[in-house]
Amino acid sequence: IDPIHVIGGGLAGSEAAWQIARAGVPVVLHEMRPVRGTDAHKTGGLAELVCSNSFRSDDDETTAIGLLHYELRKGGSIIMRSGDASQVPAGGALAVDRDGFSQTVEQALEAEPLITIERGEVAGLPPEDWGSVIIATGPLTSPALADAVLSLTGEDELAFFDAIAPIVNFDSIDMDKAWFQSRYDKPGPGGTGADYINCPLTEEEYNAFIDELLEGDKTDFKEWEENTPYFDGCLPIEVMAERGRETLRHGPLKPVGLTNPHKPDEKPYAVVQLRQDNALGTLYNMVGFQTKLRHGEQSRVFRTIPGLEKAVFARLGGLHRNTFLNSPKLLDGQLRLKAMPRLRFAGQVTGVEGYMESAAIGMLAGRFAAAEAKGETLPPLPETTALGALLGHITGGHLDAGKGSFQPMNVNFGLFPPVEMPKAPDGKRLRGKAKKPARKQAYTTRAKADIEGWFGTPPLAAE
Ligand code: FAD
Repeated sequence: IDPIHVIGGGLAGSEAAWQIARAGVPVVLHEMRPVRGTDAHKTGGLAELVCSNSFRSDDDETTAIGLLHYELRKGGSIIMRSGDASQVPAGGALAVDRDGFSQTVEQALEAEPLITIERGEVAGLPPEDWGSVIIATGPLTSPALADAVLSLTGEDELAFFDAIAPIVNFDSIDMDKAWFQSRYDKPGPGGTGADYINCPLTEEEYNAFIDELLEGDKTDFKEWEENTPYFDGCLPIEVMAERGRETLRHGPLKPVGLTNPHKPDEKPYAVVQLRQDNALGTLYNMVGFQTKLRHGEQSRVFRTIPGLEKAVFARLGGLHRNTFLNSPKLLDGQLRLKAMPRLRFAGQVTGVEGYMESAAIGMLAGRFAAAEAKGETLPPLPETTALGALLGHITGGHLDAGKGSFQPMNVNFGLFPPVEMPKAPDGKRLRGKAKKPARKQAYTTRAKADIEGWFGTPPLAAE
């Protein structure tokens, strides 16, 4: 079998190379460091953690990230195995000694006879005679390769920044205060005329909200973020507020074309709109709310909006340097570029966010590529699993794929198909505090059974 080439020896690329070799297929892993660096990496080591040393919660019963750890372990992940071997105390989180972790990954890959590691930048499209390739070059993909990818995908389909508005779990929105309506009841393409969730503000509430935005604690721009122009159409909400008290009321918070059915005689002074974010309708994003406010501040300030007092945020807003594809449009369900199927993508560049999520997509890309090289196909990955939910986010489940609204995400239960709520031992509906953990446990119990089945089902011969 010809070797598969993996470009990028970060979290995703290291995992992909490992999975390919474990499937018995040779692999060449290309990593440009230490020959050429990035703005964030500091070493030449494989799988370097560029910032935090935490893999986040290891609780696989009630957190989506802990469930992802569980599934990665079940899949024989080298990233998880090395993380477990390099653990430092961190309560319920899995945190690691970053150098020890990187060295453990590197030693494991070097010791694997089917893996060859080559140091050097791949500074353009991989040559045709490489055949099957996985591009896992991360949020700081080198400019030469990013330009080459851009020439394949088109300008609008590769982003260099994410300007993220917060995303809220639908079932945490108080619909006794908020209501569904599109401005002037206009049905957009595929819409009904009641596509947005609207949260009304009185003049007093609006002014208090503007004060909070202006006074809230913001994160600083890194030097290399400051020098890149990216503000077109995605100004942070607090920057808009600084331009004048009324700017937002004439921009994303304008109250026109909307009537509050809870108070039909009262005209709202301003309206915050939320737009459906995933096909399941479990997540809504806050329109125009990209922000550099610190995360704690965002939860506090945005919960002052009527209807969002108890909002659970699937992700908070931010503005970062990040190279990522409009994957729902560009990639097929096996992470292949539709325009050139010999190229697969993996990791953060596909529009997942986080170390573990990147490793997870590396695992899938590696398994898909290895199966293809052996003339096999894998059974469909259940969407009910953490791996499947992430794959769904980047290749299928996102709405508006053509409109450039696709944004990277950490794994969270909002990406999973809803679960049936478990009953109390007496057969009655669960109430109060027992409800939330029971629902989370229902997600993880279902996922664990389904991932067991997926890993346990032998591949089929390719058609
Ligand atoms: P990376 O781990 O970055 O791996 C990509 C690899 O490709 C790198 O080793 C790079 O040197 C190499 N490469 C790039 N271009 C080429 C080329 N042309 N040829 C050959 N090699 C190439 N996530 C978290 O969970 N926690 C955090 O604290 C966190 N902090 C972050 C801080 C910053 C500044 C950034 C940018 C991201 C952060 N992330 C964090 C997000 C993300 O999880 C990490 O970036 C993660 O490392 C992504 O994994 P990856 O494998 O996709 O990319």
